[in-house]
Amino acid sequence: MARRGGSTKFYDLLNVTPTATPEEIKKAYRKAAIKNHPDKGGDPEKFKEISTAYDVLQDAEKREIYDTYGEDALKEGMGGGGGGNPFDIFESFFGGGGMGGGRGQRGPKKGEDVTHALQVTLKDLYKGLTKKLSLTRNVICPKCDGTGSKSGKPTTCRGCRGQGVKVVLRQLGPGMVQQMQMVCPDCGGSGQAVDPSDTCPVCRGDKVVQDKKVLEVRVEPGTEHGKKIVFRGEADEAPGTVPGDIIFVVQMKEHATMRRKGHDLYTELDIGLAEALAGVDLPITHLDGRVVQLKLPPGAVARPMTFYKVPDEGMPVPGSPFEKGSLFVRFNVLFPSTLDADAVAALEAALPPRPTPDSTYFEEAEECTLRDCNIEEELRAKLHQKRGSAMDEDDEDDGAGPGGQRVQCAQQ
Ligand SMILES: [Zn+2]
Ligand SMILES: [Zn+2]
Repeated sequence: MARRGGSTKFYDLLNVTPTATPEEIKKAYRKAAIKNHPDKGGDPEKFKEISTAYDVLQDAEKREIYDTYGEDALKEGMGGGGGGNPFDIFESFFGGGGMGGGRGQRGPKKGEDVTHALQVTLKDLYKGLTKKLSLTRNVICPKCDGTGSKSGKPTTCRGCRGQGVKVVLRQLGPGMVQQMQMVCPDCGGSGQAVDPSDTCPVCRGDKVVQDKKVLEVRVEPGTEHGKKIVFRGEADEAPGTVPGDIIFVVQMKEHATMRRKGHDLYTELDIGLAEALAGVDLPITHLDGRVVQLKLPPGAVARPMTFYKVPDEGMPVPGSPFEKGSLFVRFNVLFPSTLDADAVAALEAALPPRPTPDSTYFEEAEECTLRDCNIEEELRAKLHQKRGSAMDEDDEDDGAGPGGQRVQCAQQ
């Protein structure tokens, strides 16, 4: 083959050399077309170029014109044009012959996506992790290239002549015949069948074989709950379809003491009253095992119900290796339930004095003792009481109530 055309563009698009055999071109096209299919997020322009390249190179005559005179010669009509519908080319390659490839349809069927939950802990998300997962999936039989036959060529089903459906006649009575259409039992509607003597020994005519594959799922530090990690085209392969994706969805188990919000972490820590007043100096173990010493400046009192911020001790920011959110800490101050008289005196001496009561106002005050109570229980009991009495009222109204007005309302 003289190469006066000079360009190897079509070969480059399929990633083959200009000396590639038709088989190699076919294999290369399969790979490139799946990878660049727009349904799989590929660039439609690239997909079109690949289809055009294949359309030319798979045809011996067109290929020779291309090799000799270049791409322009094909555009001028010598080879019958270089631009068919790329989806039609794809479909005629992958799709079954008798499946009635609709021109209006957008390319071949897409295989189903497979979704797996990826269970992780907050610790995993803080540090990042790599999980190796072994999956078994169907791949196009490498021996027969998905045809199911030894000869390597798809064979038209004899039962239905490639139509996928069969018309059968049923005798209903004398002179009465019903015509019925049914899915061809020989080929299951695909329109293709393999002669028993020509069955591929590897897949036994199934067109696909099982393949074990280990996927390495990388979860970046700081990844969010619900994030999808997609392996394009790694789901089951089947002739006539673009393989679906395997999708891992990150599912985070809640942490016992830390909550995450975006890049920040929130935690609540118990401290004693003495610590709260005399200075917080508290070691905590962070998610990566580091011990972080939390300190308030000397003389500062830890206020309850208040968040304190520790910059750069939050979650890592994905894609930004040196950036981290903040850790927000709130102290839950544990008060002593009783104090002895000496302690009270010492505290009274150390703490700011009580406000002086207005003696005239308090002269005739009655003394009331405060008691412990469980306010939630008290409120619940009150709610119960109220509901009970409300129901009683309703019963009265619905019964022999004097409300003539009520009856009127109900009738409208
Ligand atoms: Zn058939
Ligand atoms: Zn096979």
